[in-house]
Amino acid sequence: QAKHKGKSAFAHFAPEMTEVSHERLQMESRMRRALELQEFELYYQPIVRTDTGNLHGVEALLRWNNPTMGMVMPDRFIPLAEETGLIIPIGEWVIEEACRAAVSWRDMAGRDIGISVNVSPRQFRDPGFTNVVMNALKRTGLSPQLLELEITERLILDNSIETAEILRQLDHAGIKLSVDDFGTGYSALSYLKSYPFDTLKIDKSFVQDLMKNPEDASLVRAIINMAHSLGLSVIAEGVEEEAQTHFLKHEGCDFSQGYFYSRPQPEADFERWLKTNHRVRIQESE
Ligand code: C2E
Ligand code: MG
Ligand code: MG
Ligand code: MG
Repeated sequence: QAKHKGKSAFAHFAPEMTEVSHERLQMESRMRRALELQEFELYYQPIVRTDTGNLHGVEALLRWNNPTMGMVMPDRFIPLAEETGLIIPIGEWVIEEACRAAVSWRDMAGRDIGISVNVSPRQFRDPGFTNVVMNALKRTGLSPQLLELEITERLILDNSIETAEILRQLDHAGIKLSVDDFGTGYSALSYLKSYPFDTLKIDKSFVQDLMKNPEDASLVRAIINMAHSLGLSVIAEGVEEEAQTHFLKHEGCDFSQGYFYSRPQPEADFERWLKTNHRVRIQESE
């Protein structure tokens, strides 16, 4: 197939192809069809205010329902989607679908609900990226302030002029920007002062053992303080236990996300959660 150009390296090794690369090829060809077969689905996980437990926003998390492979989690297919460039059309679908959902919740909840979308480096560096984002906003009618793009440290650390310029454009358009998995990249903290980020998301590996491991507790505390002194807000990822919520509240962590509050859920389940769980609290708080 002509579409394989540039990625046909596999073909040269076909004679001694390992089982692993065979599996990858098979996955790649399935992935090429997955968009038109509508096998992708977004799950939604609430992000709450740590102090009140009220809904703050929602993160969209991608799932791939394949008839042969069953439900495939992003860690299993995003890397291949990145390598093949398929992340670009897939990511475009994700952004528009997430914006559409956020707009539909506005009527349901009676107020604006922000949506966070993960963006991978290949997708971000594609020359069409800012257009994709602006078009999704235009087509769905979501206001830019309600869209937050989550970017990993890995991307920022390439230190390129292009990256800085795209971040500036997105910020200028009013879109929110967050650093995902904060603390797991290389600690070149200087980027935080030169780029227009709004939020740090503390990686769940620090949050998970918070109550057992004093070093993790110190790191989380330090990240919260540093973020605040730079004017950034903080989200703790991977909150699973009530004890963690007390710690995070005490340390002034703005927002929390994790199984303790809710697992990521399919759209219909999330909407049910929104109506039952949070309608009341939303009104109480306003
Ligand atoms: P992430 O953006 O850091 O997302 C958080 C991950 O932690 C999600 O895994 C979520 O299901 C999981 N999680 C949430 N709460 C808890 C908890 O309390 N405990 C534990 N153990 N885990 C929790 P998921 O959905 O498997 O996604 C994994 C990663 O895949 C994401 O990490 C993100 O980097 C990437 N990803 C997901 N959706 C997309 C997408 O649409 N586009 C791109 N480029 N990447 C995506
Ligand atoms: Mg994320
Ligand atoms: Mg900004
Ligand atoms: Mg993360």
